[in-house]
Amino acid sequence: MSSGLGVLRLPDDVRFGYGVRAGIPDAVAALGRRVFVVADPFLATTPEFHGVVAALADRGLEVHVHTDVPPELPVDVVEASGALARSFAPDVIVGYGGGSALDAAKLIALLVSHGGSLSAYYGENAVPGPVVPLVAIPTTAGTGSEVTPVAVVSDPGRDLKVGVSSPFLVPRVGIVDPALSIGAPKSVTAHSGIDAFVHAVESYTAASLDVDRGARLPVFVGRNVLTDPLSLEAAGAIFRSLPTAVRSPGDRNAREAMAYGSLLAGMAFGSTGTHLSHAIQYPIGAMTKTPHGLGTGALLPYVLQACLPAIGSRLVALGIAMGVVEAGQGESDAAAQRVVDAVAELCAGIGLPVALTDLGLTPADRDRIVALTLQVGRLVAISPVPADADFIGRIVDAALVGDRASLIS
Ligand code: NAD
Repeated sequence: MSSGLGVLRLPDDVRFGYGVRAGIPDAVAALGRRVFVVADPFLATTPEFHGVVAALADRGLEVHVHTDVPPELPVDVVEASGALARSFAPDVIVGYGGGSALDAAKLIALLVSHGGSLSAYYGENAVPGPVVPLVAIPTTAGTGSEVTPVAVVSDPGRDLKVGVSSPFLVPRVGIVDPALSIGAPKSVTAHSGIDAFVHAVESYTAASLDVDRGARLPVFVGRNVLTDPLSLEAAGAIFRSLPTAVRSPGDRNAREAMAYGSLLAGMAFGSTGTHLSHAIQYPIGAMTKTPHGLGTGALLPYVLQACLPAIGSRLVALGIAMGVVEAGQGESDAAAQRVVDAVAELCAGIGLPVALTDLGLTPADRDRIVALTLQVGRLVAISPVPADADFIGRIVDAALVGDRASLIS
């Protein structure tokens, strides 16, 4: 092995598999008695959620359920939720839902512990210390937020959504029961599922950053030796199961493989970070009001195509994990190209747009998209190819009109 850096930051306790939700009361009770539950407002109406709350109460815990979790998490709503939670003085915060509810729970925990306004914590490593312990229970597969150090909010004072990233935001416990994702509608399954695939692929193809190993590490350090196996395993599991999960939402095996893949992808990108598909999605999401995963998924084939000359061997390894390249075939450009083509087929097969003009964007939006992407410096910095305005512009030009061939060098 080379002297490659390895970084993994994980919850103390990660549980995965059908039935693990039965362990929620014990896991929560081990952290305290006063429990502030942050739940997605739709999911809070479901029998599964009522079962969880009843089990917490039966365990003798004092439970407050909070469902003010609007899409895109406007910062003023999160701050009001934080103030409410502070007055309840919880020992533990439970997040239940998709990425929006889990991110809300992380930010509320931050405000309970450290107060102030959220903008004080924007960016990396601005959280001053530990937060109230969090138990994260995802119902999508998924953002991986149950194991990651980041939460994302929208701030009307900013053009783009903004992240709060700190190892202190990693939940204490992640409980991933695939049964909770079975009711997710087709579009949510497709968009959150492809986002998990992008996490796996971008963590594996991120640049390897040259960090000062003696100093406080950045939250995201680029690809590293401890996350590579997780990224590969995640990419394979998601590639093989996502089309089935979208086509047959009740398929338990596909749901299980998706929950597994998205969990491993979260473990990986939580210390590597993600790169250009995510960076370019930020302005596209803001301009088109489309779901995060729809944008990252639609962009991935273009990003991989543009980066292919720099990441050929990584693409081939991904292709072997995905089952589209046979091991021992060598690391030819043709094999790497087959992997990018397979990713493009996966995205089209689950209904993602092939051209960004399908989202209402036009070539006239190009310069604004590029300029705003460059503002997402922390993601641009771990692109496997140094990404300046020209490079990003080539990707955006191709993606706007669905012309991936224009990126083949
Ligand atoms: P979401 O939480 O926004 O939920 C989308 C919709 O799906 C909601 O209407 C919700 O009610 C519904 N839903 C969720 N689970 C369901 C289920 N099992 N059955 C029926 N309906 C269900 O979606 P998401 O894709 O999980 O999260 C997206 C958010 O996560 C974005 O804000 C994004 O920025 C953020 N994100 C965070 C991270 C992280 O590491 N913190 C990573 C990626 C994305």
